[in-house]
Amino acid sequence: MFPTSDTDARLVGKLRDRRLRVTPQRIVIHRALCSQARHMTAEQVLASVSDVLPGTSLPTVYSTLELLEELGLVRRVGAGNGAVVFDSRVEPHAHTVCRRCGAIADLEGASAPKNALSMAAATGFAPDHAQLVVWGLCSACAPRTG
Ligand SMILES: [Zn+2]
Ligand SMILES: [Zn+2]
Repeated sequence: MFPTSDTDARLVGKLRDRRLRVTPQRIVIHRALCSQARHMTAEQVLASVSDVLPGTSLPTVYSTLELLEELGLVRRVGAGNGAVVFDSRVEPHAHTVCRRCGAIADLEGASAPKNALSMAAATGFAPDHAQLVVWGLCSACAPRTG
């Protein structure tokens, strides 16, 4: 399987920098996360790659996601109730999480995560990243008014 896009090239570059092997699993799992305009749990990643990579196991998906996180290509977002989703958008950004259906979405324009990072850095703390999650009900779950 050869790299076919900028997405692949980014991953391959990072793997080669670390002298890590470029495997079909790593390519396909990274592609799945980058091609979906949503945030995926490890189970959703597994479901979306199992056509292309039959026999892939959940532990393999987890270890690949951990590697991608270490390479700075995905971020883990705590969505509450122990749920963790993986996000291929790695710059600091805020999320909304629906407590009824679990829908998670990017919240555009909220500058709090970025501000918190620079405030932490100003105290001498070396921040990795910051998260802001707004809890509530998504527009589909919220009771309609009027
Ligand atoms: Zn909802
Ligand atoms: Zn996001």
